[in-house]
Amino acid sequence: MKIVKKDIRALSKEELRFFFTSNGDKAFRGNQVYEWLWQKGAHHFDDMTNLSKETRQMMRANFSINHIKVDSMQRSLDGTIKNGIRLHDGMIVESVLIPTAKRSTACVSSQVGCSLDCKFCATSRLKRMRNLNPDEIYDQVVAIDRQSKLYYGRPLSNIVFMGMGEPLMNYNNVLKAIDKITSKDGLGMSPKRVVVSTSGVPKMIKKMADDGVKFNLAVSLHSAIDSVRTSIMPFNETFPLKDLREALKHWYDSTSRIITYEYVVWEGINDTKSDVEALIDFCKFAPSKVNLIEYNPIDDGIFHQANNAAIELYVSMLEAKNITVTVRRSRGKDIDAACGQLANKDKS
Ligand code: SAH
Repeated sequence: MKIVKKDIRALSKEELRFFFTSNGDKAFRGNQVYEWLWQKGAHHFDDMTNLSKETRQMMRANFSINHIKVDSMQRSLDGTIKNGIRLHDGMIVESVLIPTAKRSTACVSSQVGCSLDCKFCATSRLKRMRNLNPDEIYDQVVAIDRQSKLYYGRPLSNIVFMGMGEPLMNYNNVLKAIDKITSKDGLGMSPKRVVVSTSGVPKMIKKMADDGVKFNLAVSLHSAIDSVRTSIMPFNETFPLKDLREALKHWYDSTSRIITYEYVVWEGINDTKSDVEALIDFCKFAPSKVNLIEYNPIDDGIFHQANNAAIELYVSMLEAKNITVTVRRSRGKDIDAACGQLANKDKS
């Protein structure tokens, strides 16, 4: 019978310290191991070179280290790097490094597949297979931080939860991962540099606000008209805009942090004046800004990026109401690394 060893990374620092004292060693040995695991990203006990051979042997006998593995890596002409990440059970998720002149942004996944069914998103075709655990999320960030240092000579500056999955449907694990990303024991990044992007789960947005989280919130809105939104994001039927805007108001009232609305303008779907008017009304509920993102085709034959005139209409009408709007160009399109294109395409 195969003995399944406990993953050492499931232990807190306190538990590690306790493990060593109860095995006749010093508590600080736990700190050393913790540092190897979480700051130095060790994948093998033998990497922990300041521990004696006996100690490493003893740990190997008791534990495993279930780390993720960068299985494939593609580099786009614009410098974007897409990673296929193999998890300990063989499943694959994707994470992306997006370098710009000033920033290095990691776009990470929170689930294998996704339980939502946004019609324009490639990941929705995979269905949700499982949630990622906190370490699997954290490890993606560490792997991309290393790539950023290696290829661009600087550490990560920003993290966005805009990869595969709906982060608020895996809330506890996402929060634990962010704790580690922002703690001194982990990467020590500022929570201000982290954005959680959600399709908009009202109850969870309220909970996040009540939990006092310190990161930023982006909502994939795409339409502020219920019938339109439901037709492209069917879960809007269960979580209608009325509930969403109430939750967002609650978020702003408790956090004082402005919300970003992500929005793609599609031909014949949301490209008219009344669509913009509805968005302007929606923006009144809580201080917010609008990010118009480019559509990344997923070969569905239904969705087509609206023309420049429609984008201009949005920009001018929003600006006339003093709503900040940015038009974001897509990155990594040539390697299917752009928003909504993550679908393990090159995997059998
Ligand atoms: N589930 C989360 C995070 C993943 S999607 C969310 O919905 O926010 C990350 C962003 O990519 C979202 O704003 C989503 O609406 C957008 N997106 C999905 N498919 C896209 C596509 N084909 N082209 C452009 N953006 C897309």
